Amino acid sequence: MRYVSTRGRAGVANAERGFTDILLSGLADDGGLYVPAYYPPVTRAELDAWRTLSYAELATEIIARFATDIPRERIAALCAATYTPQTYRHARDAAAAAQITPLHWLAPGLALLELSNGPTLAFKDMAMQLLGALFEHLLAERGTELNVLGATSGDTGSAAEHALRGRQRVQVFMLSPQGRMSAFQRAQMYSLQDANIHNYAVAGTFDDCQDLVKAVAGDLDFKQRWRIGSVNSINWGRIVAQIVYYFRGYLAATKSSDERVSFAVPSGNFGNILSGWIAKQMGLPIHRLILATNENDVLDEFFRTGRYRVRGAAETLATSSPSMDISKASNFERYVFDVVGRDPDVLRELWWELDTRGEFHLAGTPFFETVRGSGLVSGRSSHRDRLRTIRTVAERHGVVIDPHTADGVKVALEHRDDAVTTICLETAQPAKFADTIVEALGREPDRPADFAGLESLPQRCESLAADVALLKQRIATTLEARA
Ligand SMILES: *Cc1c(COP(=O)(O)O)cnc(C)c1O
Repeated sequence: MRYVSTRGRAGVANAERGFTDILLSGLADDGGLYVPAYYPPVTRAELDAWRTLSYAELATEIIARFATDIPRERIAALCAATYTPQTYRHARDAAAAAQITPLHWLAPGLALLELSNGPTLAFKDMAMQLLGALFEHLLAERGTELNVLGATSGDTGSAAEHALRGRQRVQVFMLSPQGRMSAFQRAQMYSLQDANIHNYAVAGTFDDCQDLVKAVAGDLDFKQRWRIGSVNSINWGRIVAQIVYYFRGYLAATKSSDERVSFAVPSGNFGNILSGWIAKQMGLPIHRLILATNENDVLDEFFRTGRYRVRGAAETLATSSPSMDISKASNFERYVFDVVGRDPDVLRELWWELDTRGEFHLAGTPFFETVRGSGLVSGRSSHRDRLRTIRTVAERHGVVIDPHTADGVKVALEHRDDAVTTICLETAQPAKFADTIVEALGREPDRPADFAGLESLPQRCESLAADVALLKQRIATTLEARA
């Protein structure tokens, strides 16, 4: 499988790369995102045959189609080591843990697909754990090292650190905004004692943290000299790993591969739902992909009106589903590339408009007809909607869901079609967002036993001023001291 840039010039052979090349790099040199040259089709017979596979075996089948430059036995070994009940141990019981992503029926035709039973209780563990294993393998093979630099407001940073802790040849430098994460989130990251994990609490906001990362990544000399890489939401390995659970959820919810299902996806950077879009392009019988946003409704606005308008920092609200608080959706470009018939010239023009005017409009163009026909529909929810949905699901179905999952369930119910099963992706466990659960239900959510006392464990974190030169110096000093 070859990969092309969304902004590349068609036919330029040397612009094409392999899976392992793009896994360790971020953006394409032309500023675009890498996408596979085509979506590998899955036949009905294959889908039938996949019904009996374990999660790791299914992951191998799917990932091998995208990572053709890694031997299949190696992919199988990495998947078998990653998708274990020991890693996805926070399921309700041992039988559910063995499923890795157990399906939980709420009512006939309505199910939750549990994606947050991993080490950090959020769906990002599904992909990040595999990425950690892939990195370690590729770096050993190439005899090189990688220093991952990232910014986080919560879930991404902890998922990355838990996936990369203790791995050979990888150091992690993670910036987080000082005093702006919950005590639980801080403890999940700062309590890690692994020597390869470096937490910096930056005096500033999440945007300041992100700006620092961008400034370092923009200094190509520094980036090369210190082998700086990233695991952010545009990472192609994460997208591929997430495709697996759409297949898995489909197979768990259906008896025959004639049936169609819909998925409801709480969305921020468009990473999770992009994986669903690709699964659909590969031939998975998906009826609708139901995209849910919170009050930060950039994507809902687009799917309703055809207008894609990025928001400024001042317009980006801090909500009770914080992992969906985005001002723009970094993976959206990959979907739009498909919508415009994979024409990089059109794509470049749209993104030029976005950069100069802050928005583009597809309404009234044939492209918006394609969007309308693509099976993606959307909706948004507010804080009150989340509280109401958490309450209703607890009362009617006896399940406590987290605020992000509640955004998805709320919008799923608005788009419900009685003839088609809807699978709502559960993207985090309620224990991570206790304040909102208390507000909704008047009681604390249950906390998995191994998180008892998390906040009182000793923590390791250094303070850092929001200053690029200081950050570079700190990274260089740390890496030099190890050499
Ligand atoms: C990251 C995250 C999301 C949003 O996922 P995207 O891939 O950015 O669309 C939703 N819910 C939770 C709990 C998350 O951590």
